[in-house]
Amino acid sequence: MQIKEADKEVLEDNERLCWHYNSEKPGPVLVLLVGIHGNEPAGVEAVKRIAKKSANFEGRFYGSVYAIAGNLKALEQGVRYIDTDLNRLWELFNTSRDYSLKNGAVKPVEYLESLEIKRVIEAIINRHADQLDDFVFADLHTTSSQSCAFILLNDTLSNRELARKFPVPQILGIEENIQGTLLSYINNLGFRALGFEAGAHDDEISIERSVAFLHLLLHQAGNIELTDVERRKYSDIIEVYEDVPNTYYEVIHHKLVDNAEDFQMIEGFENFIPIEKNTPLAYEHGILIRAPKSGRIFMPLYQKKGHDGFLIVKEVSPFWLEVSGYLRRSSVHGFLRFLPGVTRTGNRSFEVDLNVARFLVKDIFHLLGYRVTEKNEFTLICYRR
Ligand SMILES: [Zn+2]
Repeated sequence: MQIKEADKEVLEDNERLCWHYNSEKPGPVLVLLVGIHGNEPAGVEAVKRIAKKSANFEGRFYGSVYAIAGNLKALEQGVRYIDTDLNRLWELFNTSRDYSLKNGAVKPVEYLESLEIKRVIEAIINRHADQLDDFVFADLHTTSSQSCAFILLNDTLSNRELARKFPVPQILGIEENIQGTLLSYINNLGFRALGFEAGAHDDEISIERSVAFLHLLLHQAGNIELTDVERRKYSDIIEVYEDVPNTYYEVIHHKLVDNAEDFQMIEGFENFIPIEKNTPLAYEHGILIRAPKSGRIFMPLYQKKGHDGFLIVKEVSPFWLEVSGYLRRSSVHGFLRFLPGVTRTGNRSFEVDLNVARFLVKDIFHLLGYRVTEKNEFTLICYRR
């Protein structure tokens, strides 16, 4: 295929591209994002290990794979970020808060990194413009707490379908709680995208799980065909702990913190541990914070950077998922505007006046596959993904 000169420059000799493999045989385009947080080197290391052995794929590889390293400056220093979180700024482009509009002011290191990453993604998309349906993106991370592996996804049917193929817990709709992630940016471009969290930041097992996940992903995307034995081997490596059901979860509470320095999670909360309502969880400015709801603790913050103190997740019943899958493909969307307090604001978007529509509205929109965010205390914005 024809590749534009400008794109060729971006894709050749780019230190950000830590693995790049193009087969003669046509196939999917897999784009891997690693090291978006500089203190999470497991994904970078996993890609390096696979790249080193990529001769093994000779003759049985289809399509292309690209691995893009994220926050190069922060990776060098082994810190989550330098000026601002590289995984929270992806929805600012073309808004009034776009860093490019801030004339004169010093721009965060991460903004410049994001422009470069964006440019590489665009070059890959341009290069494979004739096969946009064959793209799969995956973003690899690790957590500050001990954890089994899990998948994060924006709740679209095509993401669900891909995510389901991995034997780990799956967290739906994370984009409603954590905004500006690279995953959301890619989803909004219309591509499938999964986040994979391998375990604690500096555990060797997190690298091994990332390697295993990437092999399974190459298989599920259709880049290589693993044998049954290989598949079982890699599945065993990422498989969850027995006490964490391998199913879908939704976020039911999100504790935001202004300043991680003033926030102290009580020791010992492993990711996904069940908690009862009122369990003491953390201190903020010296004040005890208890769990407002029962569920499972999710991503407790054990580092001094970041704004997500902890989340609480809850299992979603398979029945609910079936129903929502059915309804999303149906024609009920047209009737939403007849609900009290609901105004249509665009082809795929609605605003909900909470003074009028209090109960169940969020659930109804969720069920139908809308992303629900708060415009203000009294108004919800619902956007069909
Ligand atoms: Zn991360």
